[in-house]
Amino acid sequence: MAPEPVTFLGRVKRDRESGVVAPVSEAARRMSSYRVDASNNFPLMEEMRDRAREVRLHTLANLDRYLAQFASQVEANGGYVHWAADGDEANAIITELAKANGVRSVVKSKSMVTEEIELNDALEQGGVSVVESDLGEFIVQLSNDKPSHIIAPVLHKTRYDIGELFADKLGAAYTTDPSELTEIARSHLRREFLTADMGISGCNMGIADSGTVVLVTDEGNGRLTTTAPRIHVTVMGMERIVPTFADASAVLEVLARAGTGQRLSVYTNLVSGPRRHGDPDGPDAFHVVILDNGRSRTLSGSEAEILACIRCGACLNICPVYREVGGHAYGFTYPGPIGAVVTPSLKGLDEWHELPYASTLCGACVEACPVRIDIPKMLLTLRSKAVDDGHLPGWLTFAVGRYASAATHPRQFRLLLKAGGVVGSMMAKDGWITKAPSHGANWTGARDLPQPAKTPFHARWKERNGS
Ligand code: SF4
Repeated sequence: MAPEPVTFLGRVKRDRESGVVAPVSEAARRMSSYRVDASNNFPLMEEMRDRAREVRLHTLANLDRYLAQFASQVEANGGYVHWAADGDEANAIITELAKANGVRSVVKSKSMVTEEIELNDALEQGGVSVVESDLGEFIVQLSNDKPSHIIAPVLHKTRYDIGELFADKLGAAYTTDPSELTEIARSHLRREFLTADMGISGCNMGIADSGTVVLVTDEGNGRLTTTAPRIHVTVMGMERIVPTFADASAVLEVLARAGTGQRLSVYTNLVSGPRRHGDPDGPDAFHVVILDNGRSRTLSGSEAEILACIRCGACLNICPVYREVGGHAYGFTYPGPIGAVVTPSLKGLDEWHELPYASTLCGACVEACPVRIDIPKMLLTLRSKAVDDGHLPGWLTFAVGRYASAATHPRQFRLLLKAGGVVGSMMAKDGWITKAPSHGANWTGARDLPQPAKTPFHARWKERNGS
């Protein structure tokens, strides 16, 4: 059995039953290395990053104009545009659409924005059944879980977990073979595509001058969602616009490379309205719901640039904090460095003032980000705002105060280190603390802590050098 990975936060625990270690850190590292390889193999990568950034910033600076152009083009193409100020309004619009059209079942392709507004719950409360068609989202839905990564929703699960889930929920024969697991999901989902009344998708980009929705997937489920059911609804965050096809192409050049290391995602769907006369397939009706939900406020504030994000996930994969704690720890739809900025920006600092502290400010996310968003700078601004608003956590004031006192009194500092060494060695077994008391149990529930050194560094230094 391979040894458990040891990271700077401790030794990752092995699941007692499956014997498998939590996969997030390893998977995120792998995805990061694919990004580095893809970038190194694309001589124009840096140029295209600049170009994509320019496109996104230019669009944000002229968002009202491009949104209006996009909306009128969608309508000119025979589609319908709905404006939603917040999640409740978007959910009400879609639920009403479903009711008015006698929709009983919906098939969805992966969409973080519909996670953000909790659309599935709203539809189900309205008596409409919803099936997620992206493999990861399908697993999330079956296990009543939440996505833990913006492009790989079940990064936190192993194939053993998924084998058990499919056996339990779908009555499939237990297997841990990825191809067989995919085949089980595929044959189950195929029926759903063919019987659904409505398909709901997200939107990677909306092209203003043609009213086209760009949808990027790796599984082909986006194509089926947007063509098989008789009604297609796209839910789009209002910042997702780009002016032209050429601009969309610049973003596509960096999107998959940064996210998964692919030159291009397997499917790039361009949806420009409902089925036209003579088309062999496509929906009878096409609706776009354009969602604000805090974006206008963000656009007018100091974190406006975060709306340039193209949701590639590269900052999650490289982040030393995300790799260790996983996506659920961030408490909302958008985890990792992007989430630490976007969640307080969209939802307000009052409830989310602790998120900007979930970072080491190492700067790795800026280097990885294909559109060079300076996340650490925004985190610092948000921290400063949180302090100004009186949100400095009590535990932090206390901990920093105690540390400052110890660090400025050498005798106190040495005493504390010595005490830590003694207590640590009493609690440790074979060099690891596997069970800590009180609040420490929250930590050792997931990770073993290395035993602190019995002799602190300064004492060993003195012993060796005599001073
Ligand atoms: S902030 Fe940058 S790296 Fe992170 S998801 Fe957005 S575009 Fe990708």
